[in-house]
Amino acid sequence: MSDLLEIIEPQYFSGFKCIASDCPDSCCIGWDVVIDEETYNKYKSCDIDILKESFRNNIVRNENNIGISNYIPYAFVKLNNNACSFLTGERLCFIQKNLSESFLSQTCSTYPRVINVVDSVLERYLCVSCPEAARLVLLNKDPIRLINAGYSEKNINNYRVNTLHTRGNDKYLFFKESRQFCIDLMQNRMFTVWQRLLVMGEFCLALDLINHEDRMADIECVIADFNKPFINDLLKKFDSYDSDHTSQLQAVKILLDYSLNDRFISDRYREYVNKFEQGLYLTGDYLFQNSVVEYKNAYFKYYSPLMIEHDYVFENYIVNHMLKEIFPHVSHSNGLTANYSIYDKYILLVLQVAMTKSLLIGISGYYNEKFSIEHVVNVIQVFTKNISHNQIYLHQALEFIKAAKMDNIEGVMTLIKNTCL
Ligand code: SF4
Repeated sequence: MSDLLEIIEPQYFSGFKCIASDCPDSCCIGWDVVIDEETYNKYKSCDIDILKESFRNNIVRNENNIGISNYIPYAFVKLNNNACSFLTGERLCFIQKNLSESFLSQTCSTYPRVINVVDSVLERYLCVSCPEAARLVLLNKDPIRLINAGYSEKNINNYRVNTLHTRGNDKYLFFKESRQFCIDLMQNRMFTVWQRLLVMGEFCLALDLINHEDRMADIECVIADFNKPFINDLLKKFDSYDSDHTSQLQAVKILLDYSLNDRFISDRYREYVNKFEQGLYLTGDYLFQNSVVEYKNAYFKYYSPLMIEHDYVFENYIVNHMLKEIFPHVSHSNGLTANYSIYDKYILLVLQVAMTKSLLIGISGYYNEKFSIEHVVNVIQVFTKNISHNQIYLHQALEFIKAAKMDNIEGVMTLIKNTCL
């Protein structure tokens, strides 16, 4: 058994099946299509007439890739109006249709699955940037549970993170305990989702402290400190702060406006931002303070009633994010991302949750009584595809939050607290 890796995955994972031409979005549109070296060589040596010229014309070698790297793409497919050149008029993959799935690149054959190898265990998750995956992950009323799914060959190359490769630092030794604490906390339905997130912020600060002091072996003590009385005291402190809808809307509006500058932003994302603005009268001469009133109304009248009934959606969104991003762990620069502390990663998560929630509040003001759980799932999917995969935007958003001095618990509260939820 030593040549094999144990596989764990959430209970929803095996239910995924790509819906191809029925997909309301497509992973072949709006992203760079990355080709790994092995697939590149396969395409270059292909001698099937209908494909070889297409491969020659549409695959370009990435000059920034020198040597072996899991992070810098080896080659790309040329895009045609932001879509993969191999996407047919019927929205099917030309390569898969004419050859087989085994000819797809690692990225194309893996997405929307995310594979990490954590402490010699292969973990598989789904990313909610795919509409079908979003439905499976978000709409499950039961808490996400990890199950054993058999064993895999050790020799795999489509993983995103392999903690074995970074085992220069001992910190992974204590990762299991801290992750389990965060997952248990985020699935504790005694508290609202926003209370759970706020407590997690305090926990991440404590983790960063012992990490800086090289005391990660004290993790058990930190976890023991976060007992029931301590959490209740924290909640009392959080309850004493009033929510600040004006600053919340101001910050999110700036972040959303800035997100629209990216060349890969899709029409579906623009449409939702537009509905958010229309729902709150954020366009034209309407006074911002009046939009804040609309924002509060939409929250209490349309958003909150629906989300109280479906609060597992944000819980699943956050837990799925934490699992696939191996949260809470310090992330080292990989050539594409910066070095982030555990608390930075927490703020990045809060940012995405806060932006999605505010976007939904505005959109609930647009749809009024027609605001539904399908809108919630669609908005989270479109937001994840356009924003959560954009490392450059996320980094700039984090810098903005730091510059606005909102990277503290009060700032987090401003971003995510709307009284009861
Ligand atoms: S986004 Fe998901 S469902 Fe849509 S084409 Fe891609 S894998 Fe299939």
